[in-house]
Amino acid sequence: MQLSHRITHLNGGGSDGWDVFNRARKMADAGEPIIELTIGEHDIRTDRKILTAMHQAATGGHTGYAIMPGTNLLRDTVANRVAERTGVPTTRDNVLITPGGQSALFASHHAVCDEGDTALFIDPYYATYPGTIRGVGANPVAVQAHADDAFQPRAADIAAVAEGAKSLLINSPNNPTGVVYTRETLEGIAQVCIDHDLWLISDEVYDTQVWEGEHISPRALPGMVERTLVVGSMSKSHAMTGSRCGWVIGPEAAIEHMINLATHTTYGVPGYIQDAAVYALTEDGGLEEEIAAPFRRRRLLAKQILEGQNAVGLIPAQGAMYLMLDIRATGLTGEQFANALLDTHKIAVMPGESFGKAAAGHIRVAMTVEDQTFAKALETLCGFAAGMV
Ligand code: PMP
Repeated sequence: MQLSHRITHLNGGGSDGWDVFNRARKMADAGEPIIELTIGEHDIRTDRKILTAMHQAATGGHTGYAIMPGTNLLRDTVANRVAERTGVPTTRDNVLITPGGQSALFASHHAVCDEGDTALFIDPYYATYPGTIRGVGANPVAVQAHADDAFQPRAADIAAVAEGAKSLLINSPNNPTGVVYTRETLEGIAQVCIDHDLWLISDEVYDTQVWEGEHISPRALPGMVERTLVVGSMSKSHAMTGSRCGWVIGPEAAIEHMINLATHTTYGVPGYIQDAAVYALTEDGGLEEEIAAPFRRRRLLAKQILEGQNAVGLIPAQGAMYLMLDIRATGLTGEQFANALLDTHKIAVMPGESFGKAAAGHIRVAMTVEDQTFAKALETLCGFAAGMV
């Protein structure tokens, strides 16, 4: 039987960029001692206190269909948090709770793009972006950021393809580059959105992981609140990747329609997960900082290790759990380097090419193994690169 073009072409027909990762996993399954610096998952599990709150909610009976847009308590909690952190008045009517940020990305594009519309996104990009856009029937168009600009996108490059487009998707702090967009970058982007009447979809799932500079939500910039949808998540901030709890924040009318979409797709997020999220967002024991701390530490370690050599360049690592390393001096592509490093030293990293054309000749290193192993792996990686320059 024939399947839809939409689903069979979700990946755009090419490789999905996970070849090195899959090979590493196979080697690990076969018993080889692989150090995996690949995916964006913490090396700690969800905190016991959060799990206790989840357990209490579940045994207390919050296991039926949960109220569709999200519980009032969680929507209020998210709204207050956003209002406090950005200064933008936000109420529960601006918030839809979704099963993770990924679902929020899909709902956001569904809400603003019609079939065949152009949806812009910045390259390098988180691997699901083009597929998410294709999934709603829109046409993904990448705007390249440049290594020479430390991957801060140029407003003029976006403006050059913005005519007739419906939306622009950005992500700061950024996966895969670890870059935090500056106020200047974001103001330039905001102006392009206003000039070309674009929706801005701002993926801010790493907003609690900022090591340098300041996280600015573009929803807070003049003229942006009515055209911005912010994607948030418990996954990265609270090591709750498996709980699938995120949100979209936007204008009331957009949220109202997205609630209708949720009714026809996800049918909400389990109540006991939402209660655990409320607990996690309101506890004042410094959990959020505790979860970010290992990455903060390892990023400093990495800076020290990389300072002592010149075979590998470090893109300014300002946020998120990743380092983007420039390995062009080795003469290899990111893919060749990642494959060779895996074969020679059993260290798995992601080729920059997995995240678009702009990150060619780079590799992404996830800082997701304990400090000593991480430092040792990075030293090995640098030594490996030095042997080629
Ligand atoms: N956006 C970015 C940039 C990500 O890196 C991820 C997860 N790796 C997501 C969104 C989705 O996260 P989740 O669905 O777990 O909230």
